[in-house]
Amino acid sequence: MRSAFVFDPVSFDPAGFVPAGVKDASGKFDLVHVSCVPFLCGADLAAVEKLRNSLGSSFSGKFPGNTALDVSGKSGYFREKREKREKGGPLLLISLPFISRGKAFDLFKERFAEFAAVFDGFTLQNIGDLEFLSGLLRENGFSQHDFFLASDTAFNVFNSGAALFWRGKLDSLAILPELDPGEQKALAGRFPEGIVPEIVSCGVVPVMRSEHCFAVKGRKFKCGACGKYGLAGGSLRDVTGREFRIVTNPLDCNCVLLGTVNARQPGEDERAVYRTAVFV
Ligand SMILES: [Zn+2]
Repeated sequence: MRSAFVFDPVSFDPAGFVPAGVKDASGKFDLVHVSCVPFLCGADLAAVEKLRNSLGSSFSGKFPGNTALDVSGKSGYFREKREKREKGGPLLLISLPFISRGKAFDLFKERFAEFAAVFDGFTLQNIGDLEFLSGLLRENGFSQHDFFLASDTAFNVFNSGAALFWRGKLDSLAILPELDPGEQKALAGRFPEGIVPEIVSCGVVPVMRSEHCFAVKGRKFKCGACGKYGLAGGSLRDVTGREFRIVTNPLDCNCVLLGTVNARQPGEDERAVYRTAVFV
């Protein structure tokens, strides 16, 4: 039987994981989510400062209710970090590993203090991450309110009840990108005070995670084709010719399949409300 997908090896610039200069239609971001995988694979954390500089003025500062960036309510560490930096610039958040076990997970734990020093907060990839992260924060002498905590799109938020549930635990919640643009905007408007609604406005949204690496040929477990930073995993092409890029985690040889199109661009009237960018 013919497979629905064809694997195409494609090469990516190994340094291209930090897309300096990437802009959405408005050129402004409030939250930028960066994958942890390249850094776990040895990429230089100095790239984060480069990204920060390139996005320096790309910030609207207009979160609804002004809750998230009202640092007065935050305890010491986060406030100090924000005040040390010049005003403006989006928050840079590092994602936890996309599968919550294995070498990447262990290494993330080991290097937690380094990431905490460089990033403004963390992006949780699944609900169980909150307990894991709370433990790490405690062990390292931080409070949960020292960092900005965001959810990944995998939290499947499609009603305001979810926002009520997560208020007080997370600082922002990503709205399900499958909802049409009007529904996303309407839902954002129904969010309660104290939690920021995020609408993905730039980047490619993950559509599937797999513990099996799609770059693998044959039945080997460790494929060796994942690439140094996990970006050389190639892509899958479906029967209609659409290409799904693969981002891999070479430490554990697992992967994320990305969607075929960039996330929607916000309309003019939406740009002043909320936006986010996801770089995987
Ligand atoms: Zn692999």
